[in-house]
Amino acid sequence: MEFWLDLNEEQNDLREWVHGFAESVIRPGASEWDEREETPWPILQEAAKIGLYGFEFLINTWSDSSGLSLPVVNEELFWGDAGIGMALSGTSLAVAAIYGSGTPEQMVEWVPQCFGDEADPKVGAFCSTEPEAGSDVSAMRTRAVYDEASDEWVLNGQKAYATNGGIANVHVVTASVEPSLGSRGQAAFVVPPGTPGLAASRKLRKLGLRASHTADVFLDDVRVPGPCLLGGKEALDARLARAREGKRASGQASMRTFELSRPAVGAQALGIARAAYEYALEYAQTRVQFGRPIVDNQAIAFALADMRTEIDAARLLVWRAAWMGRNDRPFSAGEGSMSKLKAGEVAVAVTEKAVQILGGAGYLRDHPVERMFRDAKIYTIFEGTSEIQRLVISRAITGRQIR
Ligand SMILES: Cc1cc2nc3c(=O)[nH]c(=O)nc-3n(C[C@H](O)[C@H](O)[C@H](O)COP(=O)(O)OP(=O)(O)OC[C@H]3O[C@@H](n4cnc5c(N)ncnc54)[C@H](O)[C@@H]3O)c2cc1C
Repeated sequence: MEFWLDLNEEQNDLREWVHGFAESVIRPGASEWDEREETPWPILQEAAKIGLYGFEFLINTWSDSSGLSLPVVNEELFWGDAGIGMALSGTSLAVAAIYGSGTPEQMVEWVPQCFGDEADPKVGAFCSTEPEAGSDVSAMRTRAVYDEASDEWVLNGQKAYATNGGIANVHVVTASVEPSLGSRGQAAFVVPPGTPGLAASRKLRKLGLRASHTADVFLDDVRVPGPCLLGGKEALDARLARAREGKRASGQASMRTFELSRPAVGAQALGIARAAYEYALEYAQTRVQFGRPIVDNQAIAFALADMRTEIDAARLLVWRAAWMGRNDRPFSAGEGSMSKLKAGEVAVAVTEKAVQILGGAGYLRDHPVERMFRDAKIYTIFEGTSEIQRLVISRAITGRQIR
């Protein structure tokens, strides 16, 4: 039985191509877009022009049989810069929801509208979190009520912290259809461009990922056509009937969806960590104190050794989970959550160490490590906090309802 960890030629070419874009287009703009706290539309346009932002690119990346292309792409983009990386990747949250819950017809109709085209790139938003429903998705209050007379769904509620909320062409919104069923009574809806009743707050001011737009979204009698229910009404009715009978299948299916997406998020964190490590490694070899480069002190060299070891360990977990997802292996120990947990925590630890290795310089905006340190922190919070990842893993390995 063969076993190897080399990327194949196609994956190496992909990695080099994305790395080139990250180095020549993303990095030079990183500090400016972070300071401006604005979506970097010119960079989105440039990415769309060369085929790095769009439906086709995402499908090609997702369909690689090893599962590694997506983590490889994300690591390079976020190595370039996390704020701009998220501006380029936020749309994929909406696309993943359409892909995960929608019919093939809905994919074809809505996904291209999430991206727009190279002349006029657009973004998509996935709006699930609410002020009272963060980690506890079952507490969702947004309601979707079916109006049989007009074959429309009427959405009312408030969403919190939506990436691209309000600036998106397509919003995918989750809502409760049958509140008594908790998270099993929920469904996802596409809100088409320009639908009346959807409004958003101003862009929220954040610690990091400042080039990425985040906003609260308000739904006030938002009416969407019946076919905007992802998966269709027949499938929803069947799912609700199963849930009313107390059958458990849908919960397990949604758990697998989360497990599948987590390595891609972990890879983003990995990109930030690697960028900070590389910067600190270089700095430590040029900064001289006490007559020798600071790297010649074990305290610094060992810190760098630990940083590199942790990054490589996180990457192995990310690649394993991505491979398992693509090859239909069961996540029996929460391996998807493990990858995101480890990569997120490594990104926070490594960027903090990088600031330390640069000393006072690390604390200044003249060097990128302070931005990387701010950006990294989100990876222990969004897409499931570190505590929620530990909950998933501990439940998987014990089979008990750990709280
Ligand atoms: C920049 C940014 C972008 C985001 N983008 C999106 C987006 O595009 N779409 C979207 O829907 N959401 C998005 N979010 C929301 C994000 O997913 C949530 O913030 C996250 O899930 C945590 O929810 P919360 O903030 O309500 O924290 P809470 O759930 O209130 O958690 C607070 C603390 O309590 C802990 N905690 C909660 N429950 C437990 C438990 N059972 N056991 C142990 N500890 C627990 C948490 O781990 C955390 O430390 C984004 C958030 C940010 C900041």
